[in-house]
Amino acid sequence: MTTANIRLLPIETPTPQPGYIPFKQSRHWRSNIEQAHPGQPGITVFMTQKAYVRANVHAQSDMDNEIGGWLIGNWRKDQETGEEYIVVERCLPALHTRRGSAYLTFTQDSQLAMFEIMEEKFPDKELVGWYHTHPKMSVFLSNHDLFLHNSFFPHHWQVALVIEPHSHTAGYFIRDKDGNLDAKFYSGFHELVPERYCSIVRWTNMTEELTGSEGVMENE
Ligand SMILES: [Zn+2]
Repeated sequence: MTTANIRLLPIETPTPQPGYIPFKQSRHWRSNIEQAHPGQPGITVFMTQKAYVRANVHAQSDMDNEIGGWLIGNWRKDQETGEEYIVVERCLPALHTRRGSAYLTFTQDSQLAMFEIMEEKFPDKELVGWYHTHPKMSVFLSNHDLFLHNSFFPHHWQVALVIEPHSHTAGYFIRDKDGNLDAKFYSGFHELVPERYCSIVRWTNMTEELTGSEGVMENE
């Protein structure tokens, strides 16, 4: 007799793919908390404008209940510096969550639907994290959020994004180099800005960090 095995998690990716960290194509947004307490997240987060828009449109679609979904993209390691980073390329709204004003659960049905979509549409991408909203609350991870994060997103490079749609605030929760996660410390991110495009970030608790190289004309 044989029993069918249902695999609920994708095949483990033991190592990040090689890449070139796209600092030059991005703008660095730092959260208010990062500015007050500088820390070093274990991984650098990049987000495409497409993913940023999708997450915000979804977040604004229900101003009373917690809603959320998955962050799809790639986990990479810079070929020159060895620095690890993720690129959040897509946001995939979860359709089958059980909703409640301070309560959100990714159901088994929604997890299965997500892995089916990933296999079909994004076979070369990874589940780099998840996002959810905290309407009329602050940006933090509750005990239930921490439980979900550690259960379903256990890798050191997987992140949680929390968005508060009323005040337009948000933050990324990123494990540190030792794998620890602070439920109150959230970071900004690097917005990937295509050539000749402007920034579209409107989260009010983030400020752009201007580095020395910005605004400098390149001379060949
Ligand atoms: Zn939460």
